[in-house]
Amino acid sequence: MSNSITIPRGTADILPSEIARWHILEFQARRVMELYGYREIRTPAFEDVHLFKRSLGVTSDVVNKQLMELSADKAGFALRPEGTASIVRSYIENHFDKKESLSKFYYIGAMFRGERPQKGRLRQFHQIGAEAIGPTSSHPLLDAEMIALAMEILDAAGIKGSVLKINSLGTPEDKEAFSQLLRKQLAAQTSGLCEDCQNRFERNVFRILDCKTEACRKIVKSLNLSIEHLSQDSQKYFQSVQEALRTLKIDFQVAPTLVRGLDYYTHTVFEISNAALGSQDALGAGGRYNRLAADLGGSENVEAIGFALGMERMLLAMPTSTEEISEPIQTIVIALSRDDQPLGFEIVSTLRRAGISGDMGYQKASMKSQMRLADKLGAQTVILIGEDERKNGYVTVKRMADGTQEKVPVKDHFKTLVDYFKK
Ligand code: AMP
Repeated sequence: MSNSITIPRGTADILPSEIARWHILEFQARRVMELYGYREIRTPAFEDVHLFKRSLGVTSDVVNKQLMELSADKAGFALRPEGTASIVRSYIENHFDKKESLSKFYYIGAMFRGERPQKGRLRQFHQIGAEAIGPTSSHPLLDAEMIALAMEILDAAGIKGSVLKINSLGTPEDKEAFSQLLRKQLAAQTSGLCEDCQNRFERNVFRILDCKTEACRKIVKSLNLSIEHLSQDSQKYFQSVQEALRTLKIDFQVAPTLVRGLDYYTHTVFEISNAALGSQDALGAGGRYNRLAADLGGSENVEAIGFALGMERMLLAMPTSTEEISEPIQTIVIALSRDDQPLGFEIVSTLRRAGISGDMGYQKASMKSQMRLADKLGAQTVILIGEDERKNGYVTVKRMADGTQEKVPVKDHFKTLVDYFKK
C-alpha cells in the first residue's frame, strides 16, 4: 500500500519474537544492580530543554545536532537524549543530599537523539544505566565499583569479548590544562583537520579526539599524550582506580585520548567496546561528573559517577541461543461447533485465572486448521469440546507430544480441569 503509514526512521518495533531476549537482559541487569545496592528510578521521557543544554554543554553534538525538541505549544521541552541529567535534576529536587550520604540509582528506558540513522545508531534507543551521587562521595573504590558493575551486567547477559578503556580527565583545572596541551600539539596541524574539527579546535578541542574522519584520526594518533598534565592528586586518584580494578581482576587499557563528548566529565572516564558490533562498536560508557549537580543548582559538594549501556547493542552482542525462549502456551481450546464456543470460552477464561496459559480461536475454522495452529504456537495440549463432551460434562484433553487423549471431567466450576493442569 503506497499510502500506508510506516514506522519513523531510526526507530524499531520490538516484536513478540524478540521480547524474550529483552526480558532476559532487563532481568539480569536488575538482578546485578540490586546486588550492588542500586535502586530503580524512573524519570520523564521529556524535560525542560535547558536541563540538557546546561548539563551536556552547548558545544556537544548531543545538544547541537541531536536534541529532539518539542515544538508548538510544547516548546521549551526536549525528549531526553540520555539519563544522567534527569537523575541529577531529580536528586536535587527531591533533596536526596539531605537524606542519605550516597544515593545509588539505576534506570532502564528509551532515549532519543535526532541523529542520522544507520546500523547501531537509532533515533529512539534504550539504555541501562547507573548513577552514584552524594556529597563529597568521590572515592577511587567507588569508581572501580561502578566500572565493575557495568562489566558484571555484560557478563550476566552472556556478552563475551568486551574491551574496557579508561582514562582520567582530572579536576576542571586539569581538564583546562589538558585542553591547552591539546591545542598546543594540534596548532601546527589544524589545516589537516576536517571542517568540523577546525571549528572544534576553539569551541571544544576534546571532540577532535573522538572524530571518526580518517585524516583527524591520523593526527590524533600522532599526538604525544600521557597523564602528565594531571595534578599529583589526580594522578594518585587514577592509580588507585587502576589498582582496585586489578584487585577485581578486571582487564583494562589506559587510553589517553579517551575523553567522552560531554562537558560534565571529570576524573575517571571509561568506555566499553565489543568487536562483535562492527563499526558502531561502543557498548557503553561512563565516568565521574563532580561538577554537574552544582551546575544544575544543587549543593557545591555533591559529586557523582555513572554509566550507560546501550541495550540494542548489548542484544546484538548477546548469544543468540536465548532467542525464542518464551514459555510455550499450555493449552488451546478447540470448540468443534458454534454451540460449543460458550463452554470453551468459559473454560479458557477459568484456566487463565488459575494461572494456566491458554488460547482459543473465535473464528470459524476446521478442526484440522485449529490443530495446526496449536502446533505452531507450541501448545502442550489441546482441549476438544464437541456435542458429546458438552452433554456429558467432560472435555477431551489431547497431548501434542504423543497424541494421547484423556477424558477429563468438568465439575465443581471447572475445579477438576484446573486440578488436572496443575498436577
Ligand atoms: P553515550 O552516552 O553516547 O556514550 O551512549 C552510551 C551508549 O548508548 C553507547 O555506547 C551506545 O551503546 C548507546 N547509544 C548511544 N547512542 C545510540 C544510538 N543513537 N543508537 C543506539 N545506541 C546508542
